[in-house]
Amino acid sequence: MVLKYIMDVLDRIEFGQPLEQALSMLNKGFSSTTGANPRSYVAHAVDSYLTATADRSLMLLERRWLATQHKSDIVRELCSWGRCYQSTDGSHRELRLLRLGHADKTRRTHGEVAVAAVVTAFGHPASNPERWSNAFERSEGQLPERVTVLEIGLLDGSRNILFDGTPDQAQDKYTTDGRDAVTALLNGSGIRPGRDCLKCQIKVACPAVPRAANLLGIQTPPRAPMRKVSISDLRYYERCPARYRLQAMLLPRLNEYDRYARLGKAVHKVLEQQHATAAEPCSLADMPTDDGWAAGLDLDEADVHAGLAMLANHPMVCPLHVGVAPMRIEPNYVFYDTSAQAMIIAKPDLVYQDAGAWVWREIKTSQRVADTRPVLEVYPQLALATTVLAAGLLGGDTHNARIELEVLRPDRSDLVQIDPHEPENLAQAREVLRKFAQPWRDDTVFQARSGKSCRTCPVRRWCPSAADPE
Ligand code: SF4
Ligand SMILES: [Zn+2]
Repeated sequence: MVLKYIMDVLDRIEFGQPLEQALSMLNKGFSSTTGANPRSYVAHAVDSYLTATADRSLMLLERRWLATQHKSDIVRELCSWGRCYQSTDGSHRELRLLRLGHADKTRRTHGEVAVAAVVTAFGHPASNPERWSNAFERSEGQLPERVTVLEIGLLDGSRNILFDGTPDQAQDKYTTDGRDAVTALLNGSGIRPGRDCLKCQIKVACPAVPRAANLLGIQTPPRAPMRKVSISDLRYYERCPARYRLQAMLLPRLNEYDRYARLGKAVHKVLEQQHATAAEPCSLADMPTDDGWAAGLDLDEADVHAGLAMLANHPMVCPLHVGVAPMRIEPNYVFYDTSAQAMIIAKPDLVYQDAGAWVWREIKTSQRVADTRPVLEVYPQLALATTVLAAGLLGGDTHNARIELEVLRPDRSDLVQIDPHEPENLAQAREVLRKFAQPWRDDTVFQARSGKSCRTCPVRRWCPSAADPE
């Protein structure tokens, strides 16, 4: 969403409006007092873009270029999405792709670059159709002699040239890297549920998105707009609704992980690699024995040692003790909660089968004194796992499905098991989730709750309500 605002503001600026006037378009959709206003980031991004491209003397052309292929009565359209420019004599075209954070060419596939290059070389100017299902409205235009595809990072004005060559070279690149990628896309049959499901037209009928009522323990009117949410989103919302909203707009996050979170991620990574290839339960011999395990990671010495000790305590509670069974590491799940009108996104640390029943395991690292609150309250992911398994949404032997919490500490490991069919557990899980989810579901304003949490908020740089550091 925020990328669209940036594009619109840039359009206005390139057609002569002053920055402040161009930014005023954001006043319509956002109140300046709620705190969930992306204006500060949009202004920053526009400035980064203009600085990064100041040395490129090209004229704005159209929002899109479009290349079409007609095969019997099927029309296939390849179109660009980025900022499209050409030189005044039409001999040079440039497509500028935008990233909200840093430019990073390793995150673009060869196929993407090939398609971008060929559309820039052979596409015609086109405007959006009235209905998305209609063909684009295409106009004729002069084709260029030189083509450039650039990537701009809007956080820091970083810039990469992804392609620079003649139309013939763009065509060669498409033949080598692009055609197969497009064919795979057209013939694609895989289903990969995730954060994009909300935008999908067939989400409510998709076999990869199981549905059930009451997963979040809340009710909403059936006509309420559908939303997507994860347990992490609800935690962010609890700390500050504006933070949740700004993060949901995908504004760049700065200093997101504290030292405890960085250590937890590093320990997870080691276990993930170990389990990906393991044929038997982890043993002490499989665990790292010196500080080299954390080479290149942003961990201090004490945390490197704590991580070593935590890993040494994993073999006692390794899930593979039940035998080598079907196992999925950090799988992406999406569930449709019909009473909350919400697509729930979940990524357990691990799920595996024990005698045909799915086990949902979360792995936590801790150096603190054990929390005395009920585990479903301390770790709401477990509450969601409880309602999901109680509804039988992972399949298998649903009656014996269970949840496990593995807590790794420097001096010991604990394994807690939870039966999702135990009525007390299920009621507690729904209550925990309801407390989290109902305020989020009812909210349409996302008012900032500035205070102590601003100090560690990863979007505070963009937040108009951020509390001053003490
Ligand atoms: S800086 Fe503070 S008020 Fe702003 S989003 Fe973050 S936590 Fe909320
Ligand atoms: Zn293991």
